[in-house]
Amino acid sequence: MIDQLNPEQRTAVTSSAQYALVLAGAGSGKTKVLTTRMAWLIQTGQVSPYGLLAVTFTNKAAKEMLARLTGMLPIDARGMWIGTFHGLCNRLLRAHYRDAGLPQGFQILDTADQLSAIKRLIKTANIDDEKFPAKDVQRFINGAKEKGERPETMEVWDAHRQRMVDIYQLYQEQCQREGVVDFAELLLRAYELLSRNALVREHYQRRFRHILVDEFQDTNDLQYKWLCLLAGQDACLFAVGDDDQSIYAFRGANVGNMAAFERDYAKGNIVRLEQNYRSYGNILDAANALIEHNNDRMGKNLWTDRGAGEPLRIIEQPTDLQESQWLMEEIKALLNDGRARRDIAILYRSNAQSRTIEHALFSARIPYKVYGGLRFFERQEIKHVLAYLRLVSNLGDDTSFMRVVNFPTRGIGARTLENLTDASRQIGCSMAHAIGAVSGKGGSNLASFVQLIKQMAEVAQTVTLPELVQHVIEISGLKQYYEQEREGAERLENLSELVNAATVFALEENFEGMPAGKAVEPPVPVDPDIMFQEAISPLAAFLSHASLEAGDNQAKAGEDAIQLMTIHAAKGLEFDVVFITGVEEGLFPHENSLMADGGLEEERRLMYVAITRARERLYISMAQSRMLHGQTRYSIRSRFLDELPEACIKWLTPKVATYGASQNGWGSGQSRQRDAFARQESGNLSPRVPRTVSSGVQVGLQQFKVGQGVRHARFGDGTIINLSGQGNDAQAQIIFQNAGAKTLALGIAKLEII
Ligand code: ATP
Ligand code: MG
Repeated sequence: MIDQLNPEQRTAVTSSAQYALVLAGAGSGKTKVLTTRMAWLIQTGQVSPYGLLAVTFTNKAAKEMLARLTGMLPIDARGMWIGTFHGLCNRLLRAHYRDAGLPQGFQILDTADQLSAIKRLIKTANIDDEKFPAKDVQRFINGAKEKGERPETMEVWDAHRQRMVDIYQLYQEQCQREGVVDFAELLLRAYELLSRNALVREHYQRRFRHILVDEFQDTNDLQYKWLCLLAGQDACLFAVGDDDQSIYAFRGANVGNMAAFERDYAKGNIVRLEQNYRSYGNILDAANALIEHNNDRMGKNLWTDRGAGEPLRIIEQPTDLQESQWLMEEIKALLNDGRARRDIAILYRSNAQSRTIEHALFSARIPYKVYGGLRFFERQEIKHVLAYLRLVSNLGDDTSFMRVVNFPTRGIGARTLENLTDASRQIGCSMAHAIGAVSGKGGSNLASFVQLIKQMAEVAQTVTLPELVQHVIEISGLKQYYEQEREGAERLENLSELVNAATVFALEENFEGMPAGKAVEPPVPVDPDIMFQEAISPLAAFLSHASLEAGDNQAKAGEDAIQLMTIHAAKGLEFDVVFITGVEEGLFPHENSLMADGGLEEERRLMYVAITRARERLYISMAQSRMLHGQTRYSIRSRFLDELPEACIKWLTPKVATYGASQNGWGSGQSRQRDAFARQESGNLSPRVPRTVSSGVQVGLQQFKVGQGVRHARFGDGTIINLSGQGNDAQAQIIFQNAGAKTLALGIAKLEII
């Protein structure tokens, strides 16, 4: 397995340094090196499969790694610690729930669950939700946790912050009471467990001789600290990453971890890989030229010996509808040429863009699969069933309790629930345990609900996991409910899909035939070094899986389908043909990014990731107008397109006036505005620009004109490049010097003419 590698890759795979970092660009074989190193370490007898821990970025990547490993070596990889940070921390906490201060059946809140738990807290604690909107609170809490901060130790400098810290404290108490943890808590708890409990820490430090991390550039500070703690003094730490692909700073990732790791540990042991095995020359040249526009780089080269290949194809369409129609024609042609659907990917900057594309694919009857959209386990009907199952596993889970206590309806009204909430707060216990304090009809309905859950829990002691899921779907009344709902057919299908998912899960995890609710030792081969056995019930394991898994169940397993996903979700993957859609100013780079520090560079890295997913052919498309969030927006092409070398590109529609010095990258904001304006004024417009555009609009006392300079309180100074509508419906598209392109309603936005 070593023979297929180039010398640098081989050096990395067989490195005997305690700390090593592979710093290399896209498609240079980082993931391949990491996987091969694992196989090599095992095969040469340097470590047992149980002495390895590998962190990947997605569950999909973890599965692929396992598959590749078992392809190289005849080992049973099931008991191995290969997974995402969240997955591995969950595993650690399950094994040591007592030491971590958690109930055995603790449940995981996904991002949406967390938000509703915060909203509930805001209500019960009488917090002013105008001053403390739930989303802000959520961001604050997660940000604090990602830095490893607890309310008791946080610095406070004003009253507002003090209140935020208090809310964080209340939220922690609520979670603790209910036996739930959010995603950030998984990491922080696991970190605290290891740092406080010497017995546990030393056990794992002894056990994991080799720790390997993929996509290291996207670790956050806490994850990095967690890795260092787990590695201790003796373990080997092997990290691979690419600073040019760091795209999660908005979620707290810190690319500085790479430099820190180099400085503090890896020092001389940096391996650089420069040969790209994925893409043809034009694709690679385009990616290299684009990323050159970033300043903050560790710097590296990439080359390929595969030849130039085809040029990048770029197309500009009048509307998003036409963009997706064109997509369909192109895809049909590709399929006619004998390409497989699974080799074609459609990428976009934000999830909201997928709807139009999905609709076009659906109408064209082309099978497709969306990754990371509304995930299977996030669908309403699935969450309802899961809420019942969570209560079966942990009656104290108030989020689940509130979700289904009156769904389907069982005569429990808002007043009853208010009384119950008050009572549970006064007693200091969960809702389910406070029902005795509510009297009257509502009280007895609550009692029968809790009775129902208890009966389900009894059944769980004797039936298997899929049987339990089926049972709950029926006994809860959900089945009957959706049978009567007019558009319930699809929901019913999803419910039976959930039973299938449970069957497959039980099979894969070797839980077949075991009672769903009984904790068992996992049926994995026993490693003599394992001091702690992880007893877990099939039900609890399944619920964690549902919270953590991307649940890619949209297309039937194994079906050959076009791959749709956001660029974020495409990290680490590769496809023969890639379409990058919606490459417009304001959308990509995203307008919000332009206001954040370093935001534009992060967007450019995102574009770099997108381009480097393609093996053979790359298309880039944009639309001059697009319906998004119920609004029509008019856009000009993304500045990123002007940063690509013309020699690598074929324009499928004529390229219209350049913005500034396109060959040397992005000109000054000023020249860009002038050029965008010139493009409008000189009549050098594509003939397909929407007819609604007008040259002047009267709003109130102000007369707006295309080309006029305006000032906005938040976005600063800019120039109007497009106007549409009249009176109250009037909208202007404005390019702001520092905030990029925006579409504003003139009746609402307070613009000053300058
Ligand atoms: P990314 O930064 O996008 O995650 P990467 O550096 O992890 O990319 P890999 O996915 O490991 O790159 O490899 C890219 C492609 O190149 C894969 O298809 C891999 O099998 C292939 N490859 C890597 N090294 C070699 C090699 N020495 N010979 C042939 N093919 C290789
Ligand atoms: Mg990779």
